[in-house]
Amino acid sequence: MAPTEEISPRPLDPRLLQLSGISRASVEAHYRLYQGYVAKRNEILGLLGDVDRATANQVYSALRSLKLDLTFAIGGIKNHELYFAHLGGDGGDPHGAFRVLVERDFGSVDAWRADLRATGIAARGWAWTAYDWDERRLFNYLGDAQNTFPVWNATPLVALDVYEHAYFLDYQTDRPSYIDAFFENLDWDVVNGWIASYAIPS
Ligand code: FE
Repeated sequence: MAPTEEISPRPLDPRLLQLSGISRASVEAHYRLYQGYVAKRNEILGLLGDVDRATANQVYSALRSLKLDLTFAIGGIKNHELYFAHLGGDGGDPHGAFRVLVERDFGSVDAWRADLRATGIAARGWAWTAYDWDERRLFNYLGDAQNTFPVWNATPLVALDVYEHAYFLDYQTDRPSYIDAFFENLDWDVVNGWIASYAIPS
């Protein structure tokens, strides 16, 4: 196997250290977890270069373990890059292209937010608002771990981390209050920029 290029963590945007209701200490610890996902992605891909494919086995094999945990590491990278990128804004109701999509596919901003909030409470790790290219509409999807359960051919536009590491320092077990703080820090210009760059039709 050809060697795979290593990647580096994206730098932490300083505005993430001044969020409303989510402490600097919490964000710094959270960022270190993200750095760990990047390091493990690089480590796993390095090991996959030399693993013995002749011993591949569905019960246990080095190949199976590495491939499985690679999805966890890469999921952790993608989820957190979305999460960090769209925090640091003024929150409030969405505007622009995302608002148009939300009102069309959920009926109202309040209905979208209530569903994503409840999805985040029902999830064990993540809740995402994503645009599904096959149905050509938004869904609020539920995730448990970093690698469960994204669906193919959908583009996430909001990534709500509800792992306890995201909020326990600030809110102990009060996840709903953390979710409310999350909404108040979203940067809708970033989300609308993704809609434009992916050319998601409204
Ligand atoms: Fe996280």
